[in-house]
Amino acid sequence: MSLILTNCKIFTAQETLTDHSIVIKNGKICEITRDDITTENHEIIDLKGQLVAPGFIDTQVNGGAGCLFNNAPTVDSIVKIANAHRKFGTTSLLPTLISDDTDTTEKAIQAAKQAHKQAVPGFIGIHLEGPYLNISRKGVHCETKITSPSKHSLALFKQISQIGSSMVTLAPEIADTQFIKALADEGIKVSIGHSNASYECTKQALQAGVSGFTHLFNAMSSLTSRDPGVAGCALEDPHSWCGVIVDGHHVHDTNLAFALKLKPKGKVMLVTDAMHTVGQHGAKFDLAGTEIYRSNGKVTTADGTLAGSDLTMIDAVKNTISRLNIDQEEALRMASLYPAQFLQQDHQLGRIAPGYRANLVLLDTELNVLDTWIDGVADNQSP
Ligand SMILES: [Zn+2]
Repeated sequence: MSLILTNCKIFTAQETLTDHSIVIKNGKICEITRDDITTENHEIIDLKGQLVAPGFIDTQVNGGAGCLFNNAPTVDSIVKIANAHRKFGTTSLLPTLISDDTDTTEKAIQAAKQAHKQAVPGFIGIHLEGPYLNISRKGVHCETKITSPSKHSLALFKQISQIGSSMVTLAPEIADTQFIKALADEGIKVSIGHSNASYECTKQALQAGVSGFTHLFNAMSSLTSRDPGVAGCALEDPHSWCGVIVDGHHVHDTNLAFALKLKPKGKVMLVTDAMHTVGQHGAKFDLAGTEIYRSNGKVTTADGTLAGSDLTMIDAVKNTISRLNIDQEEALRMASLYPAQFLQQDHQLGRIAPGYRANLVLLDTELNVLDTWIDGVADNQSP
């Protein structure tokens, strides 16, 4: 049976079409047409003129709905986190484990393997953010969990190459170019973050296979007079992608505007770096034994250190439009097409086109999320 979404505006990632319908079969988009549909066996949904866009892809999500992946690295957590973010337009995400011990990392990898096998809706891979980071740029990561690679680290991390599109955030001054190359050769996306590396060290890491920068400007060496640092190298390099947290708290809008001017179009993508607070009420939460507090769209420890974000993807899109003066279509691409390209999934995600997975978000004129589809299944029809 086909599903036909009709009477909608369609932002394909390239252009916005009106008076077209999307025909979906077996979870994939098979046609975008303005003709009358002639197939007999189909269900038609009238979208009342609202906008359909490619579902959002978030490469950095620590938690949601009260569930923090580090606290409970299980398939059940992955399901809860994916469902929580789906309400805000995310149809693909990478649950993100911040620096933790080997046992917890192993559990998270096993949970991700299982989620991949079960095809948990919304799950497309795992992100290991640490523990091979620089303590001097630890942010909210626990100092005692940050370490250097051991002889077992590569085998542990290489397992994630079997799990969809997965990524690792590391500091190249801690995990060397051989380590980076070994991961990149397995198809794992390697991103620099929580790093105090020099410009030269960052350059070498790019040559070894690094293709991304994690939460650009946050927890990395900045551009200074005699060393462009990680941030300067990220801005200079035309090939890599930068994840940015556009919540008005993590980065000054002017710095984000610089990044958008300096990087080629398509190389800056939105991430939430969301904590378990997203999709949950309350003002005080636990982060691996540390109390964290939510107020005014921020999540911080008692001393004011930002502890991930309270951001949703749709709010990141809205902030990009309102704070950075980016047009709506480009902001939507930053939340879908560009992360798909970073993950090398842009042959099946990030666009509304024949052959693509029917991962879609339905938005009203104020960009409120009305519904999502993952592989052609609407949120309200999901089990
Ligand atoms: Zn981080």
